[in-house]
Amino acid sequence: MSDSVEPPDISVVIPVFNERANLRPLSERLTRALEGAGVAFEAIFVDDGSHDDSLDELRAICAGEPRFRALSFSRNFGKEVAIAAGLDEARGRAVVIMDADLQHPPEVIAQFIEKWREGYKNVFGQRTDRATDPKLRTFFTKLFYRLLEKFGDVSLPPGAGDFRLLDRQAVDALLSMRERARFNKGLYAWIGFKSIGVPFVVDERASGASKFNFARLTRFALDGLMSFSSVPLKVWTWVGLAISCFALGMAGYYWVRTMLFGVDTPGFPTLVVSIAFFSGVQLISLGVLGEYVARIFNEVKGRPLYLVAERVEAKKSEQE
Ligand code: UDP
Ligand code: MG
Repeated sequence: MSDSVEPPDISVVIPVFNERANLRPLSERLTRALEGAGVAFEAIFVDDGSHDDSLDELRAICAGEPRFRALSFSRNFGKEVAIAAGLDEARGRAVVIMDADLQHPPEVIAQFIEKWREGYKNVFGQRTDRATDPKLRTFFTKLFYRLLEKFGDVSLPPGAGDFRLLDRQAVDALLSMRERARFNKGLYAWIGFKSIGVPFVVDERASGASKFNFARLTRFALDGLMSFSSVPLKVWTWVGLAISCFALGMAGYYWVRTMLFGVDTPGFPTLVVSIAFFSGVQLISLGVLGEYVARIFNEVKGRPLYLVAERVEAKKSEQE
């Protein structure tokens, strides 16, 4: 298809990793939901290096339906990158991102579109409960969000995930961020724009198992914290200061004690105080390095300085 073709209203981006059994039911439900909403759409499946025959299934699905396209990665690059690739491909005036496992009900998209038409550019699905997740995962998820809220530069709305609609402007903003350690949930929040949540109930995964085991989720959480917080680099200054102050306090204590009661173990106070003091000094200098590394990291991420949502000016008459 050439670029001159009218862009569709909605592009749907779907990362796919070993989801063979879900693809057909998903494409049918999606088509029904979007036709019901009365919008022109395209759907882009990103096969993230599946080992099963998801790709064959996608070939079959796309062969019979010109509104569906797929691209296939050379290997598994991870969901965050798959989403980025889908956004690169999408041509729609708005893009919906959703999982392939039918946990994100396609019927909710109509509500997203409604909000989009009201002028919201970042419409996110907000899951009302986490009953479908294992208990332990829920516990760590909550812990992670609490940490990010406290120490991160972004504030994530509770229950918001990848299931969302982004206006073209928001999509272009996301695409301008080419950072490698991608934590999309943070990026969606970072770009801002007029946002609103639409509550939805997460369904059980239609078929197969979650692709995120504990190790993978931990790595993902670290990516999130590291990309949106430099606190781990900077705390050492404060820890170091605390230890050095404590050492100075200890020095004072030993001095007074020696003056009043004399020496009991010669050399002991000097040793302990100087070990503690210099441990503190070393941590402070690590913290100072951390400050610089944090700045370098920020520059290297190369995020845009700012994003303009709108320009307000009087219309020039010749443009009318
Ligand atoms: N996924 C992907 N690449 C991966 C892992 C997952 O594209 O490396 C896709 C997966 O096919 C699904 C979505 O990301 O469409 C969410 O994955 P999953 O359902 O396993 O995650 P959960 O719902 O447990 O968070
Ligand atoms: Mg899932």
